[in-house]
Amino acid sequence: MNKPKLVAGNWKMNTTLSEGIALLESIIKGVKLLKTNTKIAIAPPFTHLSEFRKALKNTDVCLAAQNVSDKLQGAFTGEISALMLKELGVKKAIVAHSERRQYFGETNESALFKIKTLLKQDIHPIYCVGELLEDRERERHFEVVEEQITTVLYQLTEEKLPKLTIAYEPVWAIGTGKTATPEQANEMHEFIRAVIAKRFGEDLAGQVMILYGGSVNSGNASALMAQPQIDGALVGGASLKAEEFIAIIKAAG
Ligand code: PEP
Repeated sequence: MNKPKLVAGNWKMNTTLSEGIALLESIIKGVKLLKTNTKIAIAPPFTHLSEFRKALKNTDVCLAAQNVSDKLQGAFTGEISALMLKELGVKKAIVAHSERRQYFGETNESALFKIKTLLKQDIHPIYCVGELLEDRERERHFEVVEEQITTVLYQLTEEKLPKLTIAYEPVWAIGTGKTATPEQANEMHEFIRAVIAKRFGEDLAGQVMILYGGSVNSGNASALMAQPQIDGALVGGASLKAEEFIAIIKAAG
């Protein structure tokens, strides 16, 4: 499996626009000095998207959103639709991040609506899955992730599948400094691919990008990225430091 890796930065609710532009400029500068095959995406707050589109114009860095409404337009105060994102040049959007599941009541079902809405606008979803600490302690982690995959992916037609990226993010590893071991991460990625293959076949399952997320940093990135089933990383905290983020991209190859 020699597809280029993808490293995506999820900035969450961090940086004002001026801070964000300064950080983005440092990242662009660092990326230009790298010889890398790795694809890069940055998901800043919504308020940054329009300016970031201009800043990213002559770069290979892809603009991503952190969320999207499951509705296309109408009386849904505070929501942002896929149509709006498309006009701003957004190419990817994170769906069902564990913080959205935990604090905003998002579910596998709402994720499916969001993914369908994005795909209609040809924006590629990054669908987040992952178990809670208690699931892993009770050895229910495979069961939980299988449900997150089947309730969503099995509802999609096969031509949509290569447009989808999965991010496996064990909730106990997000923002905690605890990382899944490379072996634990690889094992779950292999399992996810097998669940996809059961429905869509090995070929299509092999085309789906599966990222690891959860306290990835410059120190642990190489070992994680060396795992055969890991196609890249979704990075939170470390994507807010240009040097760290660049080091992770470098580690990805
Ligand atoms: C994330 O927000 O998707 C994430 C993985 O965060 P962190 O890298 O900070 O754990």
